[in-house]
Amino acid sequence: MEVEVIEKDDTNIRLLIRETDTAYMNALRRMIISEVPCMAIDEVVMIENSSVLQDEMIAHRLGLIPLKTDLDSYNLPEECPCKSEFGCNLCRVPLALDVEAENETRTVYSGEMTSENPDVVPVSDRIPIVKLAKEQRLRLEAYARLGKGKKHAKWQPVSMCAYKFLPQIKIDSKRCDACGKCVEICPKEVLAKSGDKIEVRDLMACTLCQDCVDVCPQEPSAIEISWDKNTFILNIESTGALPSKRIMTEALKMLDGQLKEFRKKLKVKRK
Ligand code: SF4
Ligand code: SF4
Ligand SMILES: [Zn+2]
Repeated sequence: MEVEVIEKDDTNIRLLIRETDTAYMNALRRMIISEVPCMAIDEVVMIENSSVLQDEMIAHRLGLIPLKTDLDSYNLPEECPCKSEFGCNLCRVPLALDVEAENETRTVYSGEMTSENPDVVPVSDRIPIVKLAKEQRLRLEAYARLGKGKKHAKWQPVSMCAYKFLPQIKIDSKRCDACGKCVEICPKEVLAKSGDKIEVRDLMACTLCQDCVDVCPQEPSAIEISWDKNTFILNIESTGALPSKRIMTEALKMLDGQLKEFRKKLKVKRK
C-alpha cells in the first residue's frame, strides 16, 4: 500500500491511498468513526436551571460540545484501574458552569465553562448552550470522560470521514470538438477549456457523476469517466477534539491490533 498526503492541517487531512481495496478502506473508516476515543461530557449535575430549556436538553447540548482531548493522560472508564462508577482523576474531568442573566437576555456560550484541566476545554468558545432571560440562572457541574463513537456519536472524533475512488478522465482529442458543454455542466469545475482543447483542471474534485458524459453531443461520448478500483482518496475532518494526524495514527494502530488478534484466533481446520 502506498500513502500520499495531499493536504493536511490540524483539522483536515486528505490522503491518496494506492494498492488497497474497498474492504480495507471501509474497515479504516469504521475505526476512525467508531473506535478512536475522544472526550465528551457524559454526566451533568444540575444545581440550578431556571431557563426555559429542560435539564435533559441542556445536558444533551453539553454532551455534543467537542472537547479538546488529551488522549495520553486519561483512561477509558472501563479500562481505568479505579473501577469506580464515578471515576477518578485518570478517567474523568470535572467542568463547571455558573451564569446568571442579570439585567437583560443573554446567551450562555461554551467558553464560559471552566475546566479542572486547562487542556480539556471546548474546541470553540462560541457554541451557544442556552438563552437566559432576565434573572434566569444556570448552574451545573459536568463530567467529561473518554468514550467511543460506537457507543454514542458525541464521542466521534470526526465530523466527516469519507473515501472515494480515484477518478480517471479520458478525452478523445480526435472526436472532441471543444464545444465546452462538459465544462459548463461540471458542478465541481473539474474541466477547463484551453484554446481548442479540454483539460482536466482538478481531478480530485470529480464526483464521478457522469454529467459530462451525458451532455457530450458526440456519439459515443468523447469524454469517458471511470475510476481506479484500487486507489482511494480519503478525507477526514476532525471535530477539533484531536489533530487529524493523531486520529489517523490511532485508527491504523487499532486496526492493526484487531487484525493481529483476529489472525491469532483464527484456526483453520483441515480434514
Ligand atoms: S462535451 Fe464532448 S465534444 Fe464537447 S468539449 Fe466536452 S468532450 Fe469535447
Ligand atoms: S463526472 Fe461529474 S464531476 Fe466528474 S468531471 Fe464529469 S461532470 Fe465533473
Ligand atoms: Zn478512574
